[in-house]
Amino acid sequence: MTAVVYQNFIHGAFVANQSKETFPVVNPATDEVMYHVEVADEYIQKQAIGSAQQGFSKWSAMTPVERSRILNKAVYLLRERNDELAKVEVLDTGKPIQEADCVDIQTGADVIEYFAGLAPTQMGAQQPVGEDFFYTRQEPLGICAGIGAWNYPLQIACWKSGPALAAGNSLIFKPSEETPLGAIKLAEIFIEAGMPAGVFNVVQGAAKVGEWLSTHPDIEKVSFTGEVGTGKKVMQSAASNLKDVTMELGGKSPLIVFDDADISEAVSAAMLGNFYTQGEICTNCTRVYVHKNIYQEFLTELKTRTEQNIVAGDPLDPNVNLGALISKKHQQLVLDYIEQGKQEGATLLTGGHALKPESAPNGYFVAPTVFIDCSDEMTIVKEEIFGPVMSVLVFEDEDEVIARANDTELGLGAGVFSLNIQRAHRVIHQLKAGICWINSYGNSPAEMPVGGYQQSGIGRENGVETLNNYTQTKSVYVGMSKIDSPF
Ligand code: NAD
Repeated sequence: MTAVVYQNFIHGAFVANQSKETFPVVNPATDEVMYHVEVADEYIQKQAIGSAQQGFSKWSAMTPVERSRILNKAVYLLRERNDELAKVEVLDTGKPIQEADCVDIQTGADVIEYFAGLAPTQMGAQQPVGEDFFYTRQEPLGICAGIGAWNYPLQIACWKSGPALAAGNSLIFKPSEETPLGAIKLAEIFIEAGMPAGVFNVVQGAAKVGEWLSTHPDIEKVSFTGEVGTGKKVMQSAASNLKDVTMELGGKSPLIVFDDADISEAVSAAMLGNFYTQGEICTNCTRVYVHKNIYQEFLTELKTRTEQNIVAGDPLDPNVNLGALISKKHQQLVLDYIEQGKQEGATLLTGGHALKPESAPNGYFVAPTVFIDCSDEMTIVKEEIFGPVMSVLVFEDEDEVIARANDTELGLGAGVFSLNIQRAHRVIHQLKAGICWINSYGNSPAEMPVGGYQQSGIGRENGVETLNNYTQTKSVYVGMSKIDSPF
């Protein structure tokens, strides 16, 4: 059998590289190489920039309504191909089809649809200054770059391309080298929807290609999703030509459960915010603070539901709700964190080991894991693990738990469970986090801005303000009166 090799997608077509360098992509649920991908070498990189310049000229000259129509056609195609695309995501990421089928493609399409709708509403301002006046125009930036993580590959490509393209920019997107296929599928859909060639190019590769995008002088903005450490490197590279940046980085988010909370709802939130997508979600509430009065009751229900309701196995089986971690290396990293948790004195309530499900014996599975007897100084409580590992902590007092929840350099998400409406809002307002939930966890509709405080990020995705972040304001002063010149 000849191995499948995907090339870079440039100017509306697959283009062969010259170096012949490729990398393999492994199915996390089977440990088998599924296909290979050509690395974007210098030749491809040059083509990508030239094409993006041409794409930008055409696309930015179109009216927002014309752009909007094409983006909406792409939305239609994304939804029409939901099942096929969901399968692509399951094979690349290892996540369960029951998630990908109803979340990944749909939330991606929602965001493109949202920005397609917003594009024609974008207006400048006008203000008189004496007899003169000025007005402003929101103009696109030019060529933008998107660099994606592996946990929601197609969704991330949609979340970055939606606002960038709606505002009239062209985008060169680099998916994670672990999950390269979703972005290619999106590029094909854009072309089919009538988008001019070069508006959305996909380049493939790892850090080197990401560095090239972050430093290239013709790229005006880079929108990055990934780890905090990588984000810092991208920002440094972007400083070379003062690129605008959006940073969607990691988190170690708190969930605070007060003693007046609906305990079953809080357990649902804690499980969703730790085990959905096998724990590989940036906003996960991996520090669960439970009030001492309900601690035992909370743990009893959490343990029972974790042990009885989680089904690990072949992610293509619609009954499976816990998939495989992205790679063997990442599985080991998560297991190492679990070991460290034990060594530092935390107690396992459940899980704490690798899994070998019958339907996927070679996959990179880790059992849903809950640690109790945790303290704030433990490594598992401080560092992002990005796997199905929850730390439960006890608290007694509102001020105490706010201080503990805020004792982190990160600040992506936060949640509060309480039926006392004033307390819920009061506490949320004091938490240093950009994405907060009250009596809920994890929902992220297109209309709601998302992004981190502190080291969890810079800028926002989704929501009205993001469209402006892909434009620059041009002020035009118009003289109506005679120039008052001393010369
Ligand atoms: P990562 O930082 O390892 O990689 C992210 C991307 O950066 C990949 O495409 C990678 O190839 C590229 N890259 C690596 N080195 C680079 C460099 N020096 N210059 C430019 N690009 C480079 O992250 P990951 O492991 O793919 O993803 C997991 C991380 O992403 C977690 O920390 C998670 O919290 C975070 N994440 C955040 C959000 C958010 O919206 N805040 C969403 C999803 C994931």
